[in-house]
Amino acid sequence: MVVTKAAGDRRMAQSGAFKDKSKPRDIRSSNITAAKAVADAIRTSLGPRGMDKMIQAANGDVTITNDGATILKQMNVMHPAAKMLVELSRSQDIEAGDGTTSVVVIAGSLLEAAEKLLSRGIHPSAISDAFQRAATKSVEILTKMSRPIELNDRESLVQSASTSLNSKVVSQHSSQLAPLAVDAVLKVIDPTKDHNVDLKDIKLICQLGGTVDDTELVDGLVFTQRPAGANPPRKVEKAKIGLIQFCISPPKTDMDHNVIVSDYAAMDRVLKEERAYILNIVKQIKKAGCNVLLVQKSILRDAVSDLALHFLDKIKVMVIKDVEREDIEFISKTLSCRPIASLDHFTPENLASADLVEEASTGGTNKVVKITGIQNMGRTVTVLVQGSNKLVLAEAERSLHDALCVIRCLVRQRALIAGGGAPETEVALRLSEHAQTVTGVDSYCFRAYADALEIIPLTLAENAGLNSIATVTELRNRHAQGEQTAGINVRKGAVTNILEEEVVQPLLVSTSAINLATETVRSILKIDDIVNTMQ
Ligand code: ADP
Ligand code: MG
Repeated sequence: MVVTKAAGDRRMAQSGAFKDKSKPRDIRSSNITAAKAVADAIRTSLGPRGMDKMIQAANGDVTITNDGATILKQMNVMHPAAKMLVELSRSQDIEAGDGTTSVVVIAGSLLEAAEKLLSRGIHPSAISDAFQRAATKSVEILTKMSRPIELNDRESLVQSASTSLNSKVVSQHSSQLAPLAVDAVLKVIDPTKDHNVDLKDIKLICQLGGTVDDTELVDGLVFTQRPAGANPPRKVEKAKIGLIQFCISPPKTDMDHNVIVSDYAAMDRVLKEERAYILNIVKQIKKAGCNVLLVQKSILRDAVSDLALHFLDKIKVMVIKDVEREDIEFISKTLSCRPIASLDHFTPENLASADLVEEASTGGTNKVVKITGIQNMGRTVTVLVQGSNKLVLAEAERSLHDALCVIRCLVRQRALIAGGGAPETEVALRLSEHAQTVTGVDSYCFRAYADALEIIPLTLAENAGLNSIATVTELRNRHAQGEQTAGINVRKGAVTNILEEEVVQPLLVSTSAINLATETVRSILKIDDIVNTMQ
């Protein structure tokens, strides 16, 4: 163990017992520093004028993104406390889907506030408890300033989806993507009954080619695979669709095997056998009246052999192979049919019906197979996302996911608040007013908590190139005069009524950010030692 001179002196000064009282303090301070560094790293990405990050992975893959959760997930952080912030962003992603940058920025700012309180000699537990009470109060204030909405208020829904999309790389397409996200969510739920959305019911299919503007909502299924075979049918009307999980190819043993055929007659027999085997399957398919076959990918052997494709071509069956195992559930829900696991069950009642299965060209040069006009279609929807290059396409998909999450938040908790730093400023103001009514340590901590929340408007102003101090001061004044919805208008570069700018966000995103950030800060404060079990 290396003991520096200063530390040694300090120990000597302490009463006889060899007890390092400074250790918990050092650990805490190192944790706070590490976590704050993470928050600072993504601060510049916050808001509509925030910067994007380019992340290069070890294998050379490049990602361009503005999404906090994505940036942090790809960042290689080592420090255990810094990892907590990465997890924090992930929790927010799961809980609300949006606000993943805000939550980390708030946590960083709260940690800085806690550090100052600690240096004043306030006990970490006292700070932690006070922060919890402050968070509860903040959520109360936010809830009070929120406005309830109905799910048939389409305009408000589109506005909140746009707010989320406006801070993304693909923001110029937000006018097209926002209504699409709203329609997609509304299609998969029953607005009167459902209070949650299963995003698994919305399938995002990414296709390279075209532009983000060509992104479309498809009432049915989309496959990016081309129909298999040499000359397959490209269009099938009045389709009878079979979703199969068995293979149409010669069976193989589980073990590695060799069959040595030495004479011509034997070889002929083998080929004949195979032909008969496959012909039998194809006949059954024809008998059931099936004309579109979706085949699950097989890892053991070819799911459909060339010979089988040849026969299926002849009887004019369109074959889509390589359907992923994890997509089967979505497909069978959409088609309202069960996947067929063996040939015995390949009967007409197990097939799904659709008006049209067609290979259609998309915006670009690529083609996809679309199944539309499905009978008894389940409550699902497919979004065909397009982009001109891989980076834009991936970010478009992530952004659309965020927008879907925003609408999901509104289905869960049907309330909206203004954006643009307005809620944080309002909470900061009301909370510091509240701090004056309490006494003792709580009063200090509440005020520190309130000031820490102003990091959001401060950062939004900073990122938009405004004078941050002047902007936040004006914001504070306007809120003190009762303008609850005064926020930072990045387009005009001034403080205005942000509702007129149509910048609104779900209440759930903000409350969850405050709750989760406080929770993480509290746990960081309570750590006084790091025990390393690694050698
Ligand atoms: P997050 O990952 O936390 O969602 P964003 O980069 O999406 O981060 O930024 C969200 C913040 O930007 C919110 O505080 C929101 O109120 C604010 N914001 C979004 N659009 C605007 C806008 N047009 N004008 C001002 N503020 C905006
Ligand atoms: Mg956002």
